[in-house]
Amino acid sequence: MNNKSTILDHLVQILDILNNFIGNYPIYIYLIDKNYNLIWFNNYLADKFPGVQRGNDTPCYKALWGFEELCKDCPSFDKLEHMQSCHEIFEGKLPDSQTQVYLDVISLPVRDEESIVEGILKIGVDVTENEKEQRALREKEKLFVSIIDTSADAIFLLDNEDRILSWNKGAEDIFGYGAEEVIGKSNVILIPNELIELGELYYIKQELEKRGFIRRYETQRIDKYGQLIYVDLTRTVIRNENGDSIGSSVIIKDITSRKELEFELRRTIMELSKLNELDEIFYTTYILDDILQMILISITAGEGLRFNRAFLFLIDEKKEKLQGYLAIGPTNEFEAHQIWSSLQDHFRSLKDIVKQFQINLQGSDQKINEIVKQVQVPLTNSQNVLVKALKGRRAYNVRHGRVLDAGEYNFNMDGGDLFQVLGTNNFLVVPLVTKKEHIGVILADNKITQKDITEEEIESLKLFANQASMAIENARLYKNLEDRIQELQQAYQRLEENSERLVKAERLAAIGEMSAKVAHEIRNPLVSIGGFSRLLEKKLPSNSDLKNYTSIISSQVANLESILNNILSIANPKKPERRKVDIHQVIHQVLMMMDDVIHKRDVEVVLQFRCSESTVWGDEKLLFQVLLNLVKNAIEAMLTKRVLTFTTLCEDQYIRIFIQDSGHGIPQEHLQKIYDPFFTTKADGTGLGLAIVRQIVLDHKGFIEVESVEGEGTTVRLSIPRYVEPVENSEETQEKGKQ
Ligand code: ADP
Ligand code: MG
Repeated sequence: MNNKSTILDHLVQILDILNNFIGNYPIYIYLIDKNYNLIWFNNYLADKFPGVQRGNDTPCYKALWGFEELCKDCPSFDKLEHMQSCHEIFEGKLPDSQTQVYLDVISLPVRDEESIVEGILKIGVDVTENEKEQRALREKEKLFVSIIDTSADAIFLLDNEDRILSWNKGAEDIFGYGAEEVIGKSNVILIPNELIELGELYYIKQELEKRGFIRRYETQRIDKYGQLIYVDLTRTVIRNENGDSIGSSVIIKDITSRKELEFELRRTIMELSKLNELDEIFYTTYILDDILQMILISITAGEGLRFNRAFLFLIDEKKEKLQGYLAIGPTNEFEAHQIWSSLQDHFRSLKDIVKQFQINLQGSDQKINEIVKQVQVPLTNSQNVLVKALKGRRAYNVRHGRVLDAGEYNFNMDGGDLFQVLGTNNFLVVPLVTKKEHIGVILADNKITQKDITEEEIESLKLFANQASMAIENARLYKNLEDRIQELQQAYQRLEENSERLVKAERLAAIGEMSAKVAHEIRNPLVSIGGFSRLLEKKLPSNSDLKNYTSIISSQVANLESILNNILSIANPKKPERRKVDIHQVIHQVLMMMDDVIHKRDVEVVLQFRCSESTVWGDEKLLFQVLLNLVKNAIEAMLTKRVLTFTTLCEDQYIRIFIQDSGHGIPQEHLQKIYDPFFTTKADGTGLGLAIVRQIVLDHKGFIEVESVEGEGTTVRLSIPRYVEPVENSEETQEKGKQ
C-alpha cells in the first residue's frame, strides 16, 4: 500500500465510522478514485442502488447512472486540480424505477500531502421536488418573456425612482430607442415637456398611490426623434411580499392612427356642418349673381375655406369658351390685412359675413375682377387645366406650374397664359358640375400668404364646389321657372284678350244674323215697292209733277237694296269663284264706274303700275266690290287736298295693291275697329264696307293692312295671290282632279 492509497484508505475508514451515524440520511455520499471507480458509498446510496458494489472496476458514472461518458456529477480531475470544490445540479435516473432525480452535487477533491488530487468525495442531496418547481417556474418565465417580447405594445418596468429597468421589442418599435439606450434612465425622456409642465407625472403618481394603478389613460408621449405619439397608458405598482412598492410595470399602446382617425372624423363633421351652414346660406336667395358672390366669399372668408383669392369661370355657350366671370381677393398684403382684420372686427359667423360682405367691383375687388375678365379659354382646348378640370370633373392642384397625374396639360388661354394673368403658378382648380351639366370652374390660391394648399383643403373645396354647383343649378332652374311663369302669365293675358275678342265676334255675328233676317224680311216688300215705283214712273205722263217723286222713290229703293245686299253678303259671304283676273283691268273698271264722282270732287288719280304680270287668282266681281269700297272710302275721306294713288307691285307669290289717299286719316283708337261691321264715323255710313272687303280678301287667301297718319292720309295695302299657270301634275291640278 503506497502513500497515495493511504489517503483514500484513511478517508474510507473515517467514512465508515461516519456511516454508522449518518449513513441513512437521505444524502448520497460516495468516494471515487482517479479512475472514477466507486470505492466507497453510504448506506442511503446502497439502498437506492442495490446492485452497486464498492471497488468494482466499472467507473461510477456507468455503475450508478449507466452513462457511457463522464457525466456532470463527475468533473474532470484536471478541473478539480485548481478548485476547492465543484457544485453542480445533476439530472439522472434511479435503477429501481425510471423516476428522474435531480441531485445537488458537491464534489470535494481529496488531496495527498503534495496536494495532488487522489480522489473525489461527492455529496449529493436529492433536490428533485425543488428543481421541478424551479424548472416549471423558468418555463413560465420564458413564456412571459416571449409574450412581452412579441407584444406590439411597449411593456417595461420602472423602479421606485421611475428609472427604466426593462424594455421590450414593442417599446423599441414605438419609441425608437434600443434597450441599451434607455435602461437605467428616467422615463421622463418619453414624456413631452408640455405635459411635464402641466404636472402629468404628479397626477400619475397620485393615482398610483391612491389605487395602485392607472388604466387606459390617454395621453401623449414623445419618441426618440421628437415625434409626438398618442398613447393609451396602463401602469401598475409592483409590491414585494411585505407589500412595499418595488417599482411599477408600464404598458403603452400606440393609438396615434386611431386618434388621427378620430381627428379626421371630427374634421369631417365640422366640414359637414360648415357645408350645411353654407347650404342654408345658399338657399336664402335664388338670384344667381348673389349666389356666385356668396360662393367666392365663402371660399375666402376666415370662417369659410380661408383661401386668399378665388376666381370663378363660367361656360359661355355662345362663344364656346370658359369665361372669367367674377373674382374676390386683395391685391397685396397690406390690403389683405385691412380686409381680414375688418372682417374679424365686425362679423362673427360665416352667415353674417356672407350677408354683410359684398364683392366691391368699384373698390377693393376691382383689380382682381379686371384680371378674371381677361381669362377666356376655348372649350376646344381640352388640355387646358381649367377645361380639363371641367370636362374630366376632376380637381387639379397646380404646384410650381406642375400638376401630378394630369397627363397632358397646358395653361394657355386666349392672348397669353394663366400664370401670367394670375401672377402665380400655385393654385387649386375644382370643377363646378352637376349630374346633368357642366357649369364652370373655381380657381383658388394663397398668393398673399404663400401658404401651401393641404390635402384637406383640396377635399374641402371639392365638397364645397359640389354644394355650390347645386346652388347654381337651383338658381338657374328657379330663373327658368320664373321665365316660364312670366310666359304663362303673358299667354293668359293673350287668352283673356282673345276671349274678349271672341265675345265681341259672337256679338257681331248675332247682330249680323239679326240684320240678315231683317234684311231678308225687308227685301221682298222693297223689291215690290221698287217695281211699283218704276211702273208708276212709266205710266205717269212725262210732264207730271208726280214723276219727280217716283224717281226719288226708285233711287232710294235702289240705295236700300244695295245696303241690304251688303248686309246679306256679310251674313252669308259668297264663295269666290276664282279664275285668272287682271287686277289692273279691275282698277280701271272701278275708276270708270266712279268717273262722275271723281270729276265732281276734282280728285287727281295717280296710277303707278309696277307689276308687269298683273293677273291674280280671283273672283272678278268680288275683287271689283273690294276696290270699289276702298275707292269710295278714300274719296269720302278727302275734303281739301284730293290725290288718289294706285300702286301695284309683284312680290313673290302676291300682287300688292296700294290704295293711297290724302284724306283726313284714321285716329289710332279707331284702327282696331274699322273692320267691325256697322262701325262707321259717317252720318250716312253703314260701317259694312271694310267688313266686306276683309271677308273677300281673306276668302282669296290674301291679306289687308291699313296704315294711316291723321291729317295726312291713309294707305290700304292689299295682297292677293298671283295667278300661276297650272302645270301638268302640279299639286293644284292633282287636287282639282280629285274633286
Ligand atoms: P263706312 O264707309 O260706311 O263708314 P266702312 O267699313 O267702309 O264703313 O268704313 C268704316 C270707317 O272706317 C269709316 O266710317 C271711316 O271712319 C273709316 N275709314 C275707312 N276708310 C277710310 C279712309 N280711306 N280714310 C279715312 N277713314 C276711313
Ligand atoms: Mg265705306
